[in-house]
Amino acid sequence: MVVKFKTRKRVEEIAPYVLGKSMEDIKTELGLSEIRKLSENENIYGCSPRVKAYLSTGGADIYLYPDGMAQELKNKTSEFFNVRQEQLVFGNGSDEVIRLLTRAYINEGDEAVMADVTFPRYQTNVFLEGGTPVIVPLAEGVHDLKGMLDKITDKTRMVFVCNPNNPTGTINGKAELRNFLESVPSHVLVIVDEAYVEYVTTDDYLHCIPLLDQFDNLIVLRTFSKIYGLAGLRVGFGVMNEEIATQLTKVKDVFNVSRLAQGAAIAAMEDQEFIQQCAAMNEQGRNYLQTEFEKMGLSYFPSQSNFIMVDCGIRGDIAAAGLLRHGIIVRAGTLLGYPTTVRVTIGTEKDNQTFIQGLKQVIAKEKEGSHGN
Ligand SMILES: *Cc1c(COP(=O)(O)O)cnc(C)c1O
Repeated sequence: MVVKFKTRKRVEEIAPYVLGKSMEDIKTELGLSEIRKLSENENIYGCSPRVKAYLSTGGADIYLYPDGMAQELKNKTSEFFNVRQEQLVFGNGSDEVIRLLTRAYINEGDEAVMADVTFPRYQTNVFLEGGTPVIVPLAEGVHDLKGMLDKITDKTRMVFVCNPNNPTGTINGKAELRNFLESVPSHVLVIVDEAYVEYVTTDDYLHCIPLLDQFDNLIVLRTFSKIYGLAGLRVGFGVMNEEIATQLTKVKDVFNVSRLAQGAAIAAMEDQEFIQQCAAMNEQGRNYLQTEFEKMGLSYFPSQSNFIMVDCGIRGDIAAAGLLRHGIIVRAGTLLGYPTTVRVTIGTEKDNQTFIQGLKQVIAKEKEGSHGN
């Protein structure tokens, strides 16, 4: 791209973000009456009825700025998660908390260790601040914590652990992660992104919020965008020691979380029954999909989240394009470093069946086609 105005070098080096086509455009283009978006890991069941009730009445005071400290939300969250209010920093999605962390702690030339492939915002934000992302390949779809530890140097400021990992859905076990936390030098911040924690069902999972008082370099990220079903409102948070929280608060926009987002997050947290129901339905869907993959002879990364990455044995982008004609949007692994995979968000029972039927047809058709060549 030719730029007319002198841009910061690091900004110039980043490729523009390419958004997917809108659902409406896809429907029109393919002449489909219904389309299911199983590509972004949102909560397929939406959000709690309590949130809807709040939103139908909570709009009256939007002429007022939101509370920049999100005090009421902080009270609720500190109670619910059993942390001190001073440990909480809310963001316009946990995406913003990642940006606050790099803004506050990455100087030019600093290093940050992260997995490849993982959530891309870690790398982008480190890079934008002039830092150097140090990338350690996943081992069988799982963070190679030993390999990441080996990459820590005097220049390392932070290390990211996405648990469960996006896009592979895998987790690191309890003992392994605990050992990692104990081994990381104390000058390095450890950021554990628990965006999908509510979907975890195994006992071998280390919940990191209760460990915050033991590790003062630990930061845990949570979001209301996934199981809480508020992706469109943008609200997430980090929990960390008071010193780090104070620094992050200095670099955030004053009114970063909207009034409606704060109110909706409170209403969402109050309905844990809804969260438990969604997690239970997700587990059923996950078991169904994994069983079907096994019957089809396809390998997949064992998921502890609300999505699964499956190896289709054909090009992932071709599989995704084929599935689209069945009205299902998935994410091709082609750009994620796994060229023969797709990542699918676990849907309703019907979504999952449609996906499996579609996938079978797409694979059969592609294999038939390639035999003919
Ligand atoms: C979706 C997601 C987030 C959450 O992003 P928000 O900005 O809170 O919507 C954070 N981390 C990971 C790994 C995710 O997949």
